[in-house]
Amino acid sequence: MVPRLLRMATVGSPELLIVMGAHATPDQVDEVVARLEEAGAAAHVTPGKQATVIGAIGERDVLAALPLETYGGVDQVLPILKPYKLVSREISPDPTVVSALGRRIGEHYFGFIAGPCTVETPEQTLETARAVAAAGCTMLRGGAFKPRTSPYTFQGLGLEGLRILQEAREETGLPLVTELMDPRHVDAVVEAADVIQIGARNMQNFSLLAEVGKARKPVLLKRGPSASLEELLMAAEYVVREGNAQVILCERGIKTFETATRFTLDIGAIPVLKQETHLPVIVDPSHAAGRRDLVLPLARAAVAAGADGIIVEVHPEPEHALCDAAQQIPVRDFPQFAEEIGALVSLMGKVVG
Ligand code: PEP
Ligand code: MN
Repeated sequence: MVPRLLRMATVGSPELLIVMGAHATPDQVDEVVARLEEAGAAAHVTPGKQATVIGAIGERDVLAALPLETYGGVDQVLPILKPYKLVSREISPDPTVVSALGRRIGEHYFGFIAGPCTVETPEQTLETARAVAAAGCTMLRGGAFKPRTSPYTFQGLGLEGLRILQEAREETGLPLVTELMDPRHVDAVVEAADVIQIGARNMQNFSLLAEVGKARKPVLLKRGPSASLEELLMAAEYVVREGNAQVILCERGIKTFETATRFTLDIGAIPVLKQETHLPVIVDPSHAAGRRDLVLPLARAAVAAGADGIIVEVHPEPEHALCDAAQQIPVRDFPQFAEEIGALVSLMGKVVG
């Protein structure tokens, strides 16, 4: 269930959850919202399968003075204890399903996102796009703006890369997932992309998060390599509080003392996030592994731990890739990879969405 943002305060955070009874009428919900607004508070209404939940946003003492329990249709009034509010499970017990061009991620829909690390040429991108579409993937990834550790390495094709990706979408029908790094490119990326990726390095770029929160396109938010899960959820809160509830969280490995893998994939993040938030949680085994031979086992672990999707890197000739050559899966090996993932997804009772 996608939380519906009816009215958001510019300041303040939801402090109380007003759980409406199973038989509460729409008029009773409207009445509670109206009473909150009269008192200078605001409301975030989430219609659920079992009950409608209203998040009351405003000053704590103002809310405390309202006799909310006595309003018609109200079943329970509970404080929201977590620092994250709109993304928390408390506010929406039903999972959010994120959708782009009819492809879905969340609940029982598994998102299978694949494509090159970086858009290098039209040929390389189109060949990869065709291969991932043929293998049954649901979305195409590819970076046009690249966050590179070294300023002396390939930085991406920029706007030309977006154009190539759009060509690939036209041919395959796959929605595009591509990274936005710079607020100056918001319009171009929001226009071209179907899902806006916020990379690990920008997870706490709060002004960028607020910008994509205003966009009417889903956001794929990657966990920073040194960010706690609470920090990831607070970053998602920045997006959702601007009115964009279509957010996908992505575990992509964190910094530890271990050097055998590029980052350490935090498998525990999946069940923890699934408990804490209604947002879908996907895994990027490619950047975590840094080595193509480990991508399949890590992807399997992600599916088995309950991830709502994966995002993996694929290239026609990884040995010649301009970025992340060691971890991209060759196009020729991808059908087998996709088959193995598809089988596990079914075993988990999900469908590739
Ligand atoms: C990417 O997915 O292209 C990428 C750069 O990943 P991350 O932000 O997780 O490093
Ligand atoms: Mn990469």
